[in-house]
Amino acid sequence: MHSTKTREELEIFNELVAFGASDASPVPTGQLRFNKVYRKYCAQNLCGNFGKSWTCPPYADPIDSLAREITGYGKGIVFTAAGSLRFAVDWKSMMKVSDALNKICFRIMDDIVPRLGNGTVFGYGPCKYCEKCSFFLDEPCRFPDKKVRSLEGACLDVTGLAELSGLEVKDDPNRITFFGLFVFDL
Ligand code: SF4
Repeated sequence: MHSTKTREELEIFNELVAFGASDASPVPTGQLRFNKVYRKYCAQNLCGNFGKSWTCPPYADPIDSLAREITGYGKGIVFTAAGSLRFAVDWKSMMKVSDALNKICFRIMDDIVPRLGNGTVFGYGPCKYCEKCSFFLDEPCRFPDKKVRSLEGACLDVTGLAELSGLEVKDDPNRITFFGLFVFDL
C-alpha cells in the first residue's frame, strides 16, 4: 500500500483495504490515456458480454464522454483484487477474485461516494450491482448512480494504469490480479 498526501486520502486507502483490496495507489487522472481500439475488441465479444449489459458496448457511454468524466475528477486511485490459481485456467478461482473486485467497487459506490458527494468507480466486466440487471427485462438501469462500469469499456488498459500508479504487477502464472479505478474529488 503506497503512502498518500492527505488524511482524507489515507482514510479512503484504509477503507479500500478493509473492503478487501490487495493493493492501491494514487494515479494522476489528467495523465490517463484512452485507447479507442478497446471498443473493437469488445465488439469481437470474446468475453460474451457484448450487447448484454447497460455498461458494456454498444450500450456503454461514448468513449469521449467517459474520458471527459474520468479526467474531470481531480483524484484517482487504482486498486486491485488478487488471488491464487490452482492451475493455468482455473476459472473458479478467477471468478472468486473477480467477485472480490466487484465487492470493493460496490462498497465504494455505497459507502465512500455518498459520503464524498461525488465520484465513480470502474471495475471488470459488466455491472453486477443488482442480482439481475434490468437490461434483461428491457428496462432502464435501476441505479444509474450506483452502476459500476468497466475499465475495458472506458478504453483504459491495466498495464498503463499500473505504470502510471506505480503499482507492482508480479509476473506470476499462479496468481490472478483484477484492477479497478476510483475517481473522485476532495
Ligand atoms: S445498477 Fe443494476 S440495473 Fe443498473 S447496470 Fe448495474 S446491475 Fe444493471
